[in-house]
Amino acid sequence: MTSKEKRVYKPKLKEKRWDPKIEPVIFQKWQEEKIYEFNKECEKPIFSIDTPPPYVNTPVHIGQAYTYVWMDIFARYKRMTGYNVLFPLGLDKNGLPVEVQAEKIFGISMHETPREEFIEKCKQILRESGDQSVNTFKRLGLSCNSWVLEHKIGGRYETDDPEYRRLTQETFIEFWKKGLIYEDEKTTNYCPVCGTTISDAEVEYKEEETDLNYIKFKVKESGEDIIIATTRPELLCSCRIVIFNPEDERYLHLKGKHAIVPIYGHEVPIESHPYAKPEFGSGLVMICSFGDYSDVRILRELGIEPIYAIDEKGRMNQNAGKYQGLTVEEARKKIIQDLKAEGKIVKTERIRQRRPICWRSKNPIEFVPMKEYYLKQVEFKDEIFRIADEMNFFAPESKQILIDWINSVGIDWVISRRRFYGTEIPLWYCEGCGYIYVPKPGRYYQPWREKAPIEKCPKCGSTKFRGEDRTFDTWFDSSTSEVYILGYLWDKEFFKKNFPCSLRPQGKEIVRNWLYFTMLKALLLFGKAPFRNVWIHMHVVDEEGRKISKSRPETWIDPQEVINRFGAEAFRIWSGLEGNITRGDIRCSFERIEGTSKFLT
Ligand SMILES: [Zn+2]
Ligand SMILES: [Zn+2]
Repeated sequence: MTSKEKRVYKPKLKEKRWDPKIEPVIFQKWQEEKIYEFNKECEKPIFSIDTPPPYVNTPVHIGQAYTYVWMDIFARYKRMTGYNVLFPLGLDKNGLPVEVQAEKIFGISMHETPREEFIEKCKQILRESGDQSVNTFKRLGLSCNSWVLEHKIGGRYETDDPEYRRLTQETFIEFWKKGLIYEDEKTTNYCPVCGTTISDAEVEYKEEETDLNYIKFKVKESGEDIIIATTRPELLCSCRIVIFNPEDERYLHLKGKHAIVPIYGHEVPIESHPYAKPEFGSGLVMICSFGDYSDVRILRELGIEPIYAIDEKGRMNQNAGKYQGLTVEEARKKIIQDLKAEGKIVKTERIRQRRPICWRSKNPIEFVPMKEYYLKQVEFKDEIFRIADEMNFFAPESKQILIDWINSVGIDWVISRRRFYGTEIPLWYCEGCGYIYVPKPGRYYQPWREKAPIEKCPKCGSTKFRGEDRTFDTWFDSSTSEVYILGYLWDKEFFKKNFPCSLRPQGKEIVRNWLYFTMLKALLLFGKAPFRNVWIHMHVVDEEGRKISKSRPETWIDPQEVINRFGAEAFRIWSGLEGNITRGDIRCSFERIEGTSKFLT
């Protein structure tokens, strides 16, 4: 044995591998030293990030964990390059998702539960899930300014907080004063399951198989039979006109004649209209009020009064005759039986069809007339295009998603909802003369439970008022997040100096609502774009490119489990290295993250 071999080498570092156990210790130190707290007096230029408040009724998704890590990278980079970074955490709590969940968990129906009680149940769910979400974000090591709900610039915010709702109401009052709000009875998208009107931005489409029924109608003048194909025979009672394409020579002789609608026997005119496609069905189309968007549009265009067949519960109304009270599906089955019995169905084909469905409950929506409040938007489309040009898009091609959406906007924004868990529309109505009282901004109002903040009606002197009981569309709340975080309610000077916000990071699927509505409100309130930069990201998907969803356990990757197994640092490094979510979807699996964790020393 030589002396050399006896020498013992003592490494200075005992453990070469990164030990995730020190992560909470480091995080704790950051909090104690308040190193990420926002100080608005600081001299450095401000870089503000309008983080997307996650909806907290479900746990944080791996996709959110991934994109928040990226936002944190932006925040840290800006801090290191000399900026005072405003990087608040917000939680979204308003609206349908939690209401639907409360109905499910507690086995209740919102419209049959006392409002106070229902709101309490929603809060119960939100408290627990909100805490869990915040915990996941902490474990990820994000450098948010604050983790506690506080009413100051940089504080954590929640969209159902009275302070946040006060801002939502203030913007409404401002729009009201400017004459941008009106109430109107229009045909709107209506979800019978959620029991509320929904805007076009909340409508999704689903490809589905359905029956195309070829039904015999009689022509009144000539007695001949004509065949009309429809997927919605239950709407026969609301059929108002039959059309064919002006180029379709098979039917030119029918122009100006009348068709007799089977079952109901009413007569409707036959006209030519380019909407009818000769290759679809028989080439003859019945236009009902309302089977789909085209029906709505054509009836409006031709000035024909609609006949509604479906009520707001999704059931057939008195116009449907003997089918009254049945659900749409039941009525369809029944009327097909009856038509068959009368020998009126010539054939049935299975076809694939794109149907509009509710974004939340995923069931088909209907078109019903409802009196609702609208915010004007159609007349401002040119200006919205103008402010879109004031913003930089990352990636530049993502701007097209926005442009396409603006182009498609055809009606004003329906902002009232018949729901409970949302920001209340701050209005009272005089019982004597119908005068509408709009309160002064400055506090949060709940007209359904509060006395009107006015003694007497200025018009008729009545002292009786009825509080509005509807709430706002949740996008009406979330589309002022940048105004809220920049301190509009508390420090107008700071706000003026720092608006537009530096960066809006967000997913591509919410361009048509979150980004678009934020732009609309910023335009109507301040006349300019809300952001200097917009980062649009794609999605995190599983190894097979499938959407990661809790409802499909084979795809589900829980961020908490990832952090427990590999540590936050491994996940953060993986997020930084795996692909470019600005341009395409990111594939994710435990194996990929584990692979990256091996590089950590
Ligand atoms: Zn719905
Ligand atoms: Zn009055």
